[in-house]
Amino acid sequence: MKNIRVHIAVIVAALVVVVTVASFAAHSSRGQSPNPKNKSLVKPTVLVTTRSSAGANAPSLFAAAAGRNAILRNELSWTFGGKQQHGWYLYDLLIGQTLNTQNDSVPGDFAATLAAWQKNLRLNPDGVLDEDSLMTMVSKWQSNRLKNHTYADPNELVTAPSSDFYDPERAAELRQMERNTYAAYKQMIAAAIADPKLNLGHTASGELASTEKYFKIVSAFRSHEYQEQLRRQSPNAGSAGLAVNSPHFTGRALDLYVGGDPVDTKDSNRAIQVTTPAYQWLVRNAERFGFRPYFYEPWHWEYVK
Ligand SMILES: [Zn+2]
Repeated sequence: MKNIRVHIAVIVAALVVVVTVASFAAHSSRGQSPNPKNKSLVKPTVLVTTRSSAGANAPSLFAAAAGRNAILRNELSWTFGGKQQHGWYLYDLLIGQTLNTQNDSVPGDFAATLAAWQKNLRLNPDGVLDEDSLMTMVSKWQSNRLKNHTYADPNELVTAPSSDFYDPERAAELRQMERNTYAAYKQMIAAAIADPKLNLGHTASGELASTEKYFKIVSAFRSHEYQEQLRRQSPNAGSAGLAVNSPHFTGRALDLYVGGDPVDTKDSNRAIQVTTPAYQWLVRNAERFGFRPYFYEPWHWEYVK
């Protein structure tokens, strides 16, 4: 008898709690969101999951990821070309392009977009650009590059005029490149000159002015002999620099002037280059003309058609 009374008391107490919570919820949701009140009350985790998969609508859910990204952007430790690398800030633009987002200035949105990309690739979809995710991006960028490194057939090479070059004194044998690569370069430069935002110095006939440095060719086809000479000059360039199997052997790789020291891989130099309008234009437009980047060298572009 005593037990039954206790049971009844417990049940009544439980009912009071349920009724109180329900009426509180009804009261608190009045005049606010049109969401069904019982959904948010009973299944909060389902609501959160639904929102996070919706991505950019709920940036606050990725606030912690955004905080991690703010640190890793400058400090993530990773290795490339046998060298220790620090952070991924030099690749902001390429990362944004890979994620196909214009929201890279909104940290929460970036993390949400990254999480969706990670999920697609079966990476941990936490919205944090860690080493795993970065190396996956690097692999993707590298796989988009020129695959055939066959040494250029001399019949396919043309010699460009010195006015196309950053160094107008450059010798004729160092001004060679594959024929279609040169034609595509000239089309791309015409488009760059026509873009008023770049404000490039140009001649009446639509060539880059002699005083204009941006988009001029720094280096094109390299013979085995010339590449060897470069390697002797900078023995510490490392495998990311003067590769033994250089794409420049094909005549389809062009180093273009995008600012700073033309071809210096120091982070401080690349930090200047990746912010120039010239580089940013190339990242957004070069693909239309058949050119793809080498992520590590902002100046190096390969004709992949
Ligand atoms: Zn190059």
